[in-house]
Amino acid sequence: MTEQRRHRVCVIPGDDAAPEAMSASLRVLDALDLPIEWDHVPVGDELAALTPDERESLVGEHIDAADTVLFGSSNGTTPGAGFMRWGKRTYANVRPVRWRPGYASPLARPEGIDYVIVRENLEDMYVGVMGPAQRLLDAGLAEGRSRVPPDAANGRFAAKIITRPGTEQVTRFAAELALSRGGKLTVSAKTNMLPATDRWFCDIAREVAQEYPGLEYEQFIIDDMAHRLVVRPHELDVLLLPNLYGDILSDQGAGTIGGMGLAPSGCYGDEWAYFESAHGTAPDIVGQGIINPTATLESAEMMLRHLGLETPADRLDRALATVYEAGEHLTPDQGGTAGTEDFATVVIDNLSGH
Ligand code: ATP
Repeated sequence: MTEQRRHRVCVIPGDDAAPEAMSASLRVLDALDLPIEWDHVPVGDELAALTPDERESLVGEHIDAADTVLFGSSNGTTPGAGFMRWGKRTYANVRPVRWRPGYASPLARPEGIDYVIVRENLEDMYVGVMGPAQRLLDAGLAEGRSRVPPDAANGRFAAKIITRPGTEQVTRFAAELALSRGGKLTVSAKTNMLPATDRWFCDIAREVAQEYPGLEYEQFIIDDMAHRLVVRPHELDVLLLPNLYGDILSDQGAGTIGGMGLAPSGCYGDEWAYFESAHGTAPDIVGQGIINPTATLESAEMMLRHLGLETPADRLDRALATVYEAGEHLTPDQGGTAGTEDFATVVIDNLSGH
């Protein structure tokens, strides 16, 4: 029998309550006996003792040496997110929104909600171009614009930049994902108010989608989309959004299935990908041992599939489904009383026998 290839995975636990979710998740992953060599980066408190430059280069070295990264959330203390995103050009942020029996959804009929948000990850409002609005006035950009407020000179601005190559590549990613699922691509932005950027984004997406025979395409204005996410989520398959809308609506999507504790995420480029829960560091519950590790575990499941480890990914998925369906050992965000570690232990107990 040939030995299975060992993958090198860098674990970055993150800050506040994120390391609690990570260590429970790693216990579950250990129990899957994976062909993975884990490389652990120090946690927030240890990193905090270093200068920002030392932190950045230490974490960067670990990231560069790995096939992929499992990342806890950062409050800014743990570096690496910017490097993995812009440095590694991970342009497609994939955020599945899938309800399972047992998830504490606030909706009356969450059964069958199963779609994926693909959020463009590098452009839009996240390019960091912002500052005093006087600069726009100096550049003549506000001339002839009757809606510019009289006191604009004392205001501030933030710019969004959308590019054709950036939009094309993320649309191709989303289109291919849609064809591997239900075959429908939905695209949304503020097309009516922001023709220069948002209508352009949608026009390019529609154009690219036409290259994929059999792909159903639909498009909605972003406010309508926000409404649809709550009242007609079952109709969605793959939802492609520009960066900022994707960030906001993926939290809304998570809310419809039962909250941030259930929201996994993966960021994919052409060469590289990394995985992290969609939630933040949950600072309000740090040290209580109650953070729900499901989002981290499902992100790890995405990571396993990315590494080609489908069988353990399936085992993990079934174990999570079983634990939620039984509903006896859920964390407080899901209406239960179990702690993070108790939940992980029950998931481990359910890994066997599948
Ligand atoms: P960020 O700005 O990084 O998104 P945030 O504090 O605004 O951080 P989250 O950390 O996602 O946002 O937390 C939002 C709320 O959801 C908090 O009340 C937090 O406790 C809760 N929450 C987030 N993740 C989880 C989780 N995995 N389990 C339980 N509760 C969670």
